[in-house]
Amino acid sequence: MAESDADKQRAPLKRAPRYCYPSTYSAKIPRQLQRDTSILSIPSDREELATLVTSLRRHLQRQERVGIRSLWGKGEAGQTNSVISENETQLSGTEGDLFSDSSATYKAKTLEELRTAIGDCQRCKLSSSRTHLVFGVGNPRATLMFIGEGPGRDEDLQGEPFVGRAGQLLTDIITKGMGLRREDVYIANVVKCRPPENRNPEPDEVASCEPFLKKQIDLVKPEIIIALGKFAVQTLLQTKAPITKLRGTWHAYHGIKLMPTFHPAYLLRNPGDKKLVWEDIKKVIKEMHGSNA
Ligand code: SF4
Repeated sequence: MAESDADKQRAPLKRAPRYCYPSTYSAKIPRQLQRDTSILSIPSDREELATLVTSLRRHLQRQERVGIRSLWGKGEAGQTNSVISENETQLSGTEGDLFSDSSATYKAKTLEELRTAIGDCQRCKLSSSRTHLVFGVGNPRATLMFIGEGPGRDEDLQGEPFVGRAGQLLTDIITKGMGLRREDVYIANVVKCRPPENRNPEPDEVASCEPFLKKQIDLVKPEIIIALGKFAVQTLLQTKAPITKLRGTWHAYHGIKLMPTFHPAYLLRNPGDKKLVWEDIKKVIKEMHGSNA
């Protein structure tokens, strides 16, 4: 590494303006469905349709809450909506009752409150085989957030993300590569419990757990996210594009700058690609220092 690069990395971090702003999200009922109410003349049918419309609105809101956004369009670079929309904290009545077990997570004002609200989570089948629920670790006001796929064996045993061999490599990237301390950044995973045999998390498991990650991001409010590995990148960006096409270029997750790169576990198997990760990390360092050089 050139001396000038090392000096740059040790320079104080400049905190740029936040990228998150309140969302203007609202559930919309398709116009065609609204028009169709006019052809119904029997009051009971209208009432039934009104019930269906209400159910549809609530269903779409629930889909949004678990990260399914295809009906609304996914976030684009430069978009400035909050990770958690205001509507998500304003649920009431029947829907609030249906989701009463998770409503506390949406009302959490701190990471500690969120962790307490998640509790001994049994919301998906990964709960049955875990040793520890691995919530996340680091600075609750970090500028930089790393997001991986899910806990491995070491993480499951210790209850902390990225503590095994891959975790040591990530720590080296943070400390030796970026000149930061591990406690300066925030580290989390898409799912909080270890998938058996380290398989990829399944869609229903991601749908159950992703709201917790979204809330973590909303509370930490990082300016930059580094997404580690194919699964985290594809989940956050809602894409099937290969990591080889996505890494090294800036993307956006709800208005937050996101840099995809390879997972440290992949680098342990493919050390020749460390130079590619270093290229990605250098772009993040440059962004954090506000340099156009
Ligand atoms: S993976 Fe997430 S949703 Fe599933 S049990 Fe663990 S904390 Fe709950």
